Amino acid sequence: MKQQQSTPPPLPQSQPPSLSQAGGAAAAEGSVVANAISSLNGNNNNNNSIDATTKTRPPLYPKPKTPSFDKDRDYIGFATLPEQVHRKSVKRGFEFTLMVVGESGLGKSTLINSLFLGDLYKNRQMPNVEERIEKTTRVEKKTMDIEERGVRLRLTVVDTPGFGDAINCEDSWRVCTQYIDEQFRQYFTDESGLNRRNIQDNRVHCCLYFVPPWGHSLRQMDLDLIRRLHRKVNIVLVIGKADCLNKTEVRKLKERILQDLEDNHIQLYQFPECDSDEDDDFKQQDRELKASIPFAVVGSNTILEVAGKKVRGRQYPWGVVNVEDAEHSDFIKLRTFLISTHMQDLKDTTQDVHYENFRAQCISQISQHALRERGKLKRDSISSTNGFDAAISETDRLLLQKDEEIRRMQDMLTQMQEKLKQTHLMEMKKNDSVIDV
Ligand code: GDP
Repeated sequence: MKQQQSTPPPLPQSQPPSLSQAGGAAAAEGSVVANAISSLNGNNNNNNSIDATTKTRPPLYPKPKTPSFDKDRDYIGFATLPEQVHRKSVKRGFEFTLMVVGESGLGKSTLINSLFLGDLYKNRQMPNVEERIEKTTRVEKKTMDIEERGVRLRLTVVDTPGFGDAINCEDSWRVCTQYIDEQFRQYFTDESGLNRRNIQDNRVHCCLYFVPPWGHSLRQMDLDLIRRLHRKVNIVLVIGKADCLNKTEVRKLKERILQDLEDNHIQLYQFPECDSDEDDDFKQQDRELKASIPFAVVGSNTILEVAGKKVRGRQYPWGVVNVEDAEHSDFIKLRTFLISTHMQDLKDTTQDVHYENFRAQCISQISQHALRERGKLKRDSISSTNGFDAAISETDRLLLQKDEEIRRMQDMLTQMQEKLKQTHLMEMKKNDSVIDV
């Protein structure tokens, strides 16, 4: 396997993509995703991931140093532990589940394809008018295995077609919450089982919630869903098709959305605080990411040529919207956040906060149920002591009967053995008398 090669593949000598200079970053695309995934390598502290993109980063698969006892007497060898963890994680591969929620036509599939450079919706069939009348929300799961410089990522995208199409949107949020709970329940069951080594983690690590660019802020249905989901999953808000808005409109919409969230006491995914010893570039990147929430994105699966450069963009009669230009959209910021810098933190928060909450609820429900059952048993035993005694004496009687039967059969067996013995003796005597004659 690639990841076990002894010679590490050469690293690109480029600087990390700066968010402010992200325009025309099509060429850096591969390295962003690569850096993203390699930042996951057994490293729970995403703050270190910035180092992973700098020139000074160690090779991807450094050969573990073999301790030379003769030359270096102070060398114990545990300095290779990070590499051991790294190799093991790379070998195992990574899993990430992303849920995309929002009305149809908001550019969800286009954005997912742009983010992961794939075509997850190749065989997508748009529902016809009759099917749309049913207006039920479904859950559609698509998985793709991506490999980049020896690092394998199994990406699962959970889509919710039909979301928000009905007048009454209760069904829409119920489908989402049920799906998230089911995955937690499955994980809880697997974790409590005997074979815990190969548990597949299908828990939803992040939910990209698409807000339409039209309208003035969050709608009631958005608030309803977010309120029901924000304690179960990491929600990241995204304003879809942001090229419909100018800069001022984007800014105002973002402000109103944030205000709405605050007024409704809704807490979306919280970015971890940046460590004080981080370098200035990373701190700046972190600040820019935080300031961009909710991300106003433009998606496109078309590569256009602008001034001799290939860019991912949307061609309009009046010009080109460059998806990767920070002046045009927050696409690069979203991709940096989701893949390069915070993927592991999203997974950690899922495990440490959301799943822990679910687990605690499950355990408390189970213990409450057990307590109730015990109480019921106690009450039953007190109220029916006489009946209980009667049941015991009946059992005793049956046991005595069986004992008696066994004893009788043993007697019979002994008698038969005795008879056999006597017959045998008589036969022998008879034979003796015959010889005598
Ligand atoms: P979904 O139903 O939410 O998955 O939406 P799609 O990704 O299928 O996009 C619906 C339509 O919107 C398609 O014609 C896309 O080309 C277009 N579209 C996708 N993203 C954008 C965008 O960012 N801006 C604009 N203006 N159109 C977009």
